[in-house]
This record gives sequence, C-alpha cells and structure tokens, in this order.
Amino acid sequence: MKILVLGSGGREHALVWKLAQSAHTTQLWCAPGNAGTSLERLQNGSMVQNIPIGAEDLPSLLKFADEHKPDLTVVGPDNPLALGVVDLFQSRGLRIWGPNKKAAQFESSKVFSQNFMEKYGIPTAKAGTFNDASSAKNFAHELDGRCAVKADGLALGKGVLICHTFEESNRAIDEILLQKSFGEAGSSIVIQELLEGPEISLHAICDGQTAKLFPTSQDHKRALDNDQGLNTGGMGAYSPTPFLTEAQLAETGRAILGPWLKGCAAEGIDFRGLLYPGIMLTKTGPKILEFNARFGDPETQVYLMRLQTDLVELLDASAEGALHKIELRWNPNPAVCVVMASGGYPGNYPKGLPITMPPSIPPNTKIFHAGTASKNNQIVTNGGRVLGVTALGTDLASARQNAYDLTAQIKFEGAHYRKDIAVKALTGPQPR
Ligand code: AMP
Repeated sequence: MKILVLGSGGREHALVWKLAQSAHTTQLWCAPGNAGTSLERLQNGSMVQNIPIGAEDLPSLLKFADEHKPDLTVVGPDNPLALGVVDLFQSRGLRIWGPNKKAAQFESSKVFSQNFMEKYGIPTAKAGTFNDASSAKNFAHELDGRCAVKADGLALGKGVLICHTFEESNRAIDEILLQKSFGEAGSSIVIQELLEGPEISLHAICDGQTAKLFPTSQDHKRALDNDQGLNTGGMGAYSPTPFLTEAQLAETGRAILGPWLKGCAAEGIDFRGLLYPGIMLTKTGPKILEFNARFGDPETQVYLMRLQTDLVELLDASAEGALHKIELRWNPNPAVCVVMASGGYPGNYPKGLPITMPPSIPPNTKIFHAGTASKNNQIVTNGGRVLGVTALGTDLASARQNAYDLTAQIKFEGAHYRKDIAVKALTGPQPR
C-alpha cells in the first residue's frame, strides 16, 4: 500500500515510524515531514520520502496525490481537517483517513462541541455559549468569576483563558470577544465552570459506527516542572495513568462514547478518525473539557510505542467502517515520552542549532523528531518542540528512567525539558 502522511511534528514521526513497520506499506511519503521521518525505512528496504508541501497547502497536496495515487492518506494535525482536506480528497476518489469537515467540528468549534455534549447528555462542565460580552459576563458572574473562557475556533492551543475572579473573567471576555485577540476564532466563546482534579487524555478510534478506546495517557501542558510556566503544545506524556482502573476506564468510555455515537448518528455525523477527549477526573466523576479530532501530540508517541496492532490495518479499518473486525492489542509495559524543547520555547527561540545524538539507541527506546531539519548532513533544530524521547519499561519508574537516561545524552544549545514527566503517577515526589 502506498501511504501519504500529512504533518511534520512528533506525532507524525511516530505515525510514520509505526506505518513503516507494517508489511502492508510499500511506499511512504510524509508532507512535509522532518529530519526524523526521512530516516525511517520500510520492511521492503525503501526509505520514507519527505515531500516539501505544507500540511495546509491543500491544492499542492491534491496535485501530489493525483499524480502519485497513494492508496491511503493519513492526516496528522487539526488544521487540514478543519480546512476540509478529507472532503476534498474524497471528492476526487482518493482514500484518506481522518474526520471530514463536519465531523472535525468537534475540535474546530468549541461551541458546537459544548452544545452537542449538552444535547446528548455527555458529562461535561456547567457551561454557556455566547457571542455578546454582556450576557457572557453575567454568566461568568454566576460562577463567581471562576471559569474557563474559550474562543470557539482553533487558536493554536492558546484560546483558553483560566479565570479566578470577576476582574479576570471580564478581561478574558473582552479580550476574546471585543479586542478579538484570537481573530475570527473568538467571535463566539464557551464559558465553563472551573473544574478540579487530575487531567487525562482519552483516545478512541472510530469508524462512523464503532469507537474503540485506547488505554489512558497524560500530557504535561506547562513548560516547567510542577506545572509552572506557560502553556505549551505538550512537554511529555506517559501511558497508562494510574488514575483510572481498567473498570473505571471502561465505564468512562461507555458514559462518553455511548451518547456520543448516538448523537453522531442523530446529527448525520460520520466520524472516521481519532476522537481525543480531554478529561478532568473531578470528585463528581469524569467531565469532558474539550474534544480533539486527531491524535494527541505527545500522547501518540507513547501510544504507538505500546500499540501491537498493525497501524495500517487499524487506520484502514477506521476509514472503511470495519473496526469491529480489529482487535486493539497493547504492550502491557508503560511508556514515557520526554519532550526536549528549544531555549525560549514557548516564546521565541532560535532555529538551525546542531543536535548531537547519542552514539547508540537502546532497545525499546525511540527518539521521535518534531522540530528538526537536515542541513549539510547535520540534524539541526527547526521548531519549539524538537524531540520526543520515548521509552518503554517494565514499570512506569523504569520507563521514566530509560527515557531520561537517553534524554541526558542528547545535546543542543539551550535545550530544556521537564524533569518531572510521569512523577504524579508515582507514589511520592521523585525529583531527578
Ligand atoms: P482545552 O483546550 O479546552 O482543553 O483547555 C486547555 C487547558 O485549560 C486544559 O488542558 C485544562 O488544563 C484547562 N481547562 C480547560 N477547561 C477547563 C475547566 N473547565 N476547568 C479547569 N481547567 C480547564
């Protein structure tokens, strides 16, 4: 099977790495990819090829696909989904994995998602949706100013403002609705009550009829240890988390996916792709903060280290409506991913700095590239999140140790990474 992967981050390197391991894959392209994707080799010996087309350049992607006829295109990031890449490819008879534009609204519109959750009884925060500032402020006052104010549309993960007082909620509402700091993405907002508890990521692969739940994972959004510093795309992840037992996970899955599938059927939404709800485990049960409509990054890196099912067969079944035939099999060993970021990230950072890699990579570990490029045969930094150093272990503590041992051997100027990935999951603080 000839496969085209869209995207250039750590998630896409993990997807490419796993797809390359499948005997079904005969040719693999990544548009645009990174220095890591082009180092992957297929089972038939050929190398993955990077294609210099951005994941949002739909006309050029379509032209490439028309010429090279991939048997399946796999969409990594949210933007091309929201732009309708799936609908476009399908209209040209090209097979593509990911939700169509209507289904991708679960991520591209928080107002749509919130209304859907309320309509179909999916557990979520108490919330309201608004497009005028004064009724939004009244609602925020009812919550004593303790709320999350969210821009409706995609805002590079920055469109959520957490407030604890009236002053903060008034300012947040003005900022999004009146000053339009997130542009058109902020012409409507969702205001949710502030929830408390551990936050986890769920992933479910869907085919329009069936949804199959992955094990739990947890991301680390803030830049610094102990959840300090600015929000980032994600500084590390691990799977599974100890916060839900298998039975609780199955129950949570039923409570969310049962009404979600019913709602999709009622609304004529044919969701074939990955549904990724962000969940807070509150004292009164799990509540959804938001839906994403694609694989998480860096959750994908830990999931794909653990996944034993052939990824080509899995994505193909998801696109075909045949997931009921597929069994999800997981390595029982936990995985940990530590993200190494450029100095300055999530603010401004330099690019083009040489990266020194370890002389050898131990088994059951993998350095996934994110913001990297190849320059004169040297791998250099090319983004904020640079590498996702990922390891399996016989238990979480050893997975963590393996990931950090490898991370410590990688060098580039200004590199920073959190030292506390997965610490919350282990009993007692384990500073390194
Ligand atoms: P979202 O993009 O909606 O997941 O929000 C980004 C981050 O804001 C989440 O990962 C949470 O840490 C935080 N957040 C969002 N909604 C809430 C809420 N209702 N209560 C508390 N924290 C929230």
